[in-house]
Amino acid sequence: MDFSKSKELHNEALEHIVGGVNSPSRAYKGVGGGTPVYMEHAKGAYFWDVDGNKYIDYLGAYGPIITGHAHPHIAEAISYAAKNGVLYGTPTRLENKFAKILKQAIPSLEKVRFVNSGTEAVMTTVRVARAYTGRNKLIKFSGCYHGHFDSVLVEAGSGPATLGTPDSAGIPESVASDVITVPFNDLEAFKAAMERWGNQIAGVLVEPIVGNFGIVEPEAGFLQAVNTITHDAGALVIYDEVITAFRFTYGSAQQVYGIEPDMTAMGKIIGGGLPIGAYGGRKDIMEQVAPLGPAYQAGTMAGNPASMAAGIACLEVLQDVGVYEKLNDLGKRLEEGILNQASQYDIPISVNRLCGALTVYFGSGRISNYEQAEASDGDAFAEFFRLMLEQGINLAPSKFEAWFLTTEHTEADIDQTIEAAGKAFRTMASR
Ligand code: PMP
Repeated sequence: MDFSKSKELHNEALEHIVGGVNSPSRAYKGVGGGTPVYMEHAKGAYFWDVDGNKYIDYLGAYGPIITGHAHPHIAEAISYAAKNGVLYGTPTRLENKFAKILKQAIPSLEKVRFVNSGTEAVMTTVRVARAYTGRNKLIKFSGCYHGHFDSVLVEAGSGPATLGTPDSAGIPESVASDVITVPFNDLEAFKAAMERWGNQIAGVLVEPIVGNFGIVEPEAGFLQAVNTITHDAGALVIYDEVITAFRFTYGSAQQVYGIEPDMTAMGKIIGGGLPIGAYGGRKDIMEQVAPLGPAYQAGTMAGNPASMAAGIACLEVLQDVGVYEKLNDLGKRLEEGILNQASQYDIPISVNRLCGALTVYFGSGRISNYEQAEASDGDAFAEFFRLMLEQGINLAPSKFEAWFLTTEHTEADIDQTIEAAGKAFRTMASR
């Protein structure tokens, strides 16, 4: 494959844009760097790059794209909004309509607020939890990503329940020391942290199905226990459903497990590909937010008609009969096919999958927490990533990311991908 125009554009980008990219993972950081592919256009399950190469897309823009690129219903909604004025700075009918749709789909949302990104949504839930409880500390789970605001760019040491240290320059120790990080799926560590700091905890931030060290489901009873213990301590449970809302079912992960948090943050899919975030939850908690309460949050672009229209249109498509069954069938076909090819060439992999989202880990053993995902073979993934790219299969450039299917992928796309994986494994086995 020729990537020469991508190389040219990247050299130009490096002159003007920091690191050449507007989000670090796009620099192929997770696969050892190099020239990222510059995409020119996208339709359905496919991308075409600036050199004219075609790809089957499994990046799905890191999650938002579930109905395929340039879906006609969403495109029409966006173009209607474009012609009607994209930003008013006043309330609109569309915001009410979308809020009602979200509330109907996710019953724990008694009140919602629209913002512009997942980061903003999660950040505000943390502020609201602090306002509501009058406490400062936050518990999060190791390896979970919740956006780039200060409190969540915090990691733990190697202990099972440790006070956080900043994961980025520019974050004060004083902020990080209010965050406690616990391994996901480790109830004992969670209990230990709650015993020690429980009466200082404002909120426990949970990705109910992890999407950020691959797709990792909670073990049986884990979410339930987290809810009970958190509530017993007078703290709030916050679900970060930025990836999971509308990914696995028409609704959220909380419905998959029949459990309700106090607050939920969303983003990605609910914008149909346009910038969006939303948070919501129990009425008495949400009433902490301005103009009703003392917790401030605002936004010039919040609830803009284009994002509202795109999000409503996307959820309309997702309400079609059989959407999630199709995603599940395609996901299952892909999982089985890849596992089968890997075993033919004796490449040790494991696959975590839920519906139309999966992660292929190199190495053996089940992955149920960050430590295990971290121990999976990044060099093998990087080689696989490049071998797949050369065959026109576009994966997310990191061993920690998920492959996201869309309603536009076909069985033929899946079979082509499985065949490409087989060739990649054969090459890897021959080295
Ligand atoms: N929470 C989760 C679970 C995410 O995966 C992400 C983004 N990958 C965010 C929050 C932040 O969302 P955004 O990039 O829209 O700010």
